[in-house]
Amino acid sequence: MGKVSVYKCSDYEYEKIKHIVFKSLEYSEISRKIFKNAKIFIKANLLMKKDPEDAVTTHPNLVRALSEFFIEKGCIVTIGDSPAGPFTENALKGIYSSCKMDEAANLSGAVLNYNITHSEVKAEESLRLKSFRVINAILESDFVISAAKLKTHGMMTYTGGVKNLFGVIPGLIKAEYHFKLTSEENFAHHLIDICEFIKPDYTIIDAIDCMEGNGPSNGKKRRVGLIIGGDNPHEADYIASHIASIPFYKIPTLSLAKSRNLYDVSSIVIEGDDYGDMDIKPFTLPESTNITFISDKIPGFLREYLIDRLKAKPKFIHQKCISCGHCVRNCPAKVIKMENKLPIVDLKGCISCFCCHEVCPADAIEIKRPILSKLFLKIK
Ligand code: SF4
Ligand code: SF4
Repeated sequence: MGKVSVYKCSDYEYEKIKHIVFKSLEYSEISRKIFKNAKIFIKANLLMKKDPEDAVTTHPNLVRALSEFFIEKGCIVTIGDSPAGPFTENALKGIYSSCKMDEAANLSGAVLNYNITHSEVKAEESLRLKSFRVINAILESDFVISAAKLKTHGMMTYTGGVKNLFGVIPGLIKAEYHFKLTSEENFAHHLIDICEFIKPDYTIIDAIDCMEGNGPSNGKKRRVGLIIGGDNPHEADYIASHIASIPFYKIPTLSLAKSRNLYDVSSIVIEGDDYGDMDIKPFTLPESTNITFISDKIPGFLREYLIDRLKAKPKFIHQKCISCGHCVRNCPAKVIKMENKLPIVDLKGCISCFCCHEVCPADAIEIKRPILSKLFLKIK
């Protein structure tokens, strides 16, 4: 039986969130597994330097409430992430400060992770990479909590609990793995492999302020007002994406996890508030909405050729660019270079991963779908 909790939470007022987070955790299996002095790692989504009100990163009040719960139970709590860009102490310091994780740690008694070491792990059960690098702070913990944010995502359509765990891969090594696994299917299997290796003990999704459209960093903020939690990350994602009206078959991590028998929708038991009266409008999907789901409808000999031509690609808006170079450093295919302080992309080698779009702090990269794609797929 999979237990998922869904609670209404109209805003980020701390006492309100704390009450809900504590209730969600009491309902979960982890509250029965933890022990005194257990090392808990709260893996927040700290994609980049952003104010919590921008709805890009997990809200600090949610992380603070999680930390307080475990600290009250006698555990030792570390908050962290390996965001986009280099995994260095300086970079972490800036991100913790912008995302207000320093406040969450100070107020709860948790510590922020500054251990930037990482190790190669063997993951024999994986369907893609059989070994990969993981940050040591995660490997050294007894329990991992995925504290995610409900957002749309350029490559994976949706990001929640499972995609959040890509942040256990250190810094720019993420780009290497992206480049090894360029198709949506391969990359989604890799995300599932990471999730299966880490086996998060609890997943909680901040769905108070969410993001729709061209997420995960440059989409539109949308207030939904829910907190979703679950012992099984796929089940928590299934319910969160269902609430956002994003069909699971358009989300590669969910459709492939289903084919790998990692969750069973029929056995999910939902606890909490009845959210049926909330009139949550379907989320607007990213321009790039992946097209893998139609690939089985295309004859084999045409598949690769057509999919490449139907895929959305990034478009750089030089007028908005602040010449930070993040897109260059984070492009797995290394097809962006700076010329006269402006990024120039060679789209022939572009793998449509949208890492550039994800890390751009100036919203200077748009996602453009070819006209052929709009006609062929009848997607507006
Ligand atoms: S240009 Fe952007 S979308 Fe294309 S491979 Fe590089 S990071 Fe990915
Ligand atoms: S396009 Fe965005 S990420 Fe790239 S250099 Fe300009 S501002 Fe930075």
